[in-house]
Amino acid sequence: MAFVGRDRTLNTERVAFMKHADIVVIGGSAAGLTAAITARRHYPDKAILLIRKEERVLIPCGIPYIFGTVGSPEKNLVPDAALSKNTIDLLIDDVVEIDRENGRVQTAGGEVVAYDRLILATGSLPAMVPIPGFEFSNVFPVFKDVARLRAMQEVLKGVSDLVIIGGGFIGVEFADECKKSLQATVTIVEALARCLMLAYDEEFCAQAERLLTERGIATVTNVKVTRLVGNGAVEGVELADGRTLPAQAVIIGIGATANVTLAKNASLPIGPTGGIVVDRTMRTADPRIFACGDCAEKISFFGGRPSTLKLASIATAEARIAGANLFGTRRENIGTVGVWATIIGETAFATAGLTESLAQRHGYNYVVGAAEAVNRHPGGMPGARSMKVKLVFEKRTGLILGGQVMGDTAAGEVINAISACIQRRMTAEDIAMFQTGTHPALTASPIAYQFVNAAEAAAAAGR
Ligand SMILES: Cc1cc2nc3c(=O)[nH]c(=O)nc-3n(C[C@H](O)[C@H](O)[C@H](O)COP(=O)(O)OP(=O)(O)OC[C@H]3O[C@@H](n4cnc5c(N)ncnc54)[C@H](O)[C@@H]3O)c2cc1C
Repeated sequence: MAFVGRDRTLNTERVAFMKHADIVVIGGSAAGLTAAITARRHYPDKAILLIRKEERVLIPCGIPYIFGTVGSPEKNLVPDAALSKNTIDLLIDDVVEIDRENGRVQTAGGEVVAYDRLILATGSLPAMVPIPGFEFSNVFPVFKDVARLRAMQEVLKGVSDLVIIGGGFIGVEFADECKKSLQATVTIVEALARCLMLAYDEEFCAQAERLLTERGIATVTNVKVTRLVGNGAVEGVELADGRTLPAQAVIIGIGATANVTLAKNASLPIGPTGGIVVDRTMRTADPRIFACGDCAEKISFFGGRPSTLKLASIATAEARIAGANLFGTRRENIGTVGVWATIIGETAFATAGLTESLAQRHGYNYVVGAAEAVNRHPGGMPGARSMKVKLVFEKRTGLILGGQVMGDTAAGEVINAISACIQRRMTAEDIAMFQTGTHPALTASPIAYQFVNAAEAAAAAGR
């Protein structure tokens, strides 16, 4: 990074020493790190500087596991080795201003850095709803922050009643992990009719709730929280149906909002879901500035509608596009498919694209195929577990719209194969003729292979 002189032009009284990097990335998590590494691969001669707020970066998706399986925030960190290995400079500081006209950023610590290209990967913050009592102590939105999570862990150790607001995958994972480690009643409150309802169809959600109940977690669905009760510290959660659940701590897992303050202050356009507007190359309205990850506006793979999905898998895919396109377009975003998985106990739930209920809601004329089989052959082989695959196809074209998988932990990878089929726009016939690799100790039999048989069932239904 080159030292280029002194600068008093930015909005500060402090004399700053201006540095220069060809590429400046703001954000050091899934999107920022991946964008910087991608930029290094595509532009080996450029100086790259990554600026992030935090000393140590948490693996965001591992956060719920701090509270059970993993044990502490320190065991859930992204190693910084990737930065040095890729000759990416690191500045730990808070960027407070982007001066687009002069191509510079200013940090809270007084650094001024000039850029040729800037990537915004400023991520998201936990969503908050204006319910009275949210400001009480022992109420925890999930911040990706080591100190906050450590403090939360300390408080949770002493509680006898924990309420989790939000029955999406974050709420469900927190509930399962907290139940493992705490001597507390754990209750999930979900406003929709089912937990995990935005990602799975009814039969999958029903099975997820059954498993939660078996594991000693209560689920209260189809009811909204009206306020948190307490006197400074939370004591209960009041529901719209008049009940009040006792609670000495509340975890809030109701989604995330794009962190766009810097972009907004720099007059970059913000889209309908609150993200920074980007084109398919991940370029913002300013040709020198790109955005990716949770802070960027998204459009759905299915028809280009605005999408509110925020996932690490989307963030890294967008980062690989942004990082490659900095000095010439090399990649384009096909839109957000939405692929992810979760696990309750030993049972995995995975989803990609549209569920049957979403396909219905979006007005598709569709057919469905499902198949369930054990993941070994013969079924007496060690590790044999059932796995169910459900696929949704557009009726007229036969194109795959989505899939859900439940059961064996292989679901986490099977869903990626389903996602590949969605992205390559394959049909039920294509998948029914898929050449699958099978092995008695590793997979279902080639005769019963769930993914292929689900497509076969849908192809038959569509004829
Ligand atoms: C509990 C939990 C579990 C999750 N599990 C999954 C999962 O299983 N699978 C999945 O795909 N997704 C999961 N997600 C979603 C995933 O974590 C996010 O999609 C992902 O973190 C987005 O990455 P990002 O880099 O865009 O943003 P973030 O992770 O929010 O990172 C933003 C970065 O920007 C930096 N930053 C922001 N403003 C400034 C500034 N002004 N100056 C300097 N630095 C700044 C921050 O310090 C941080 O480094 C989960 C999220 C949570 C909260």
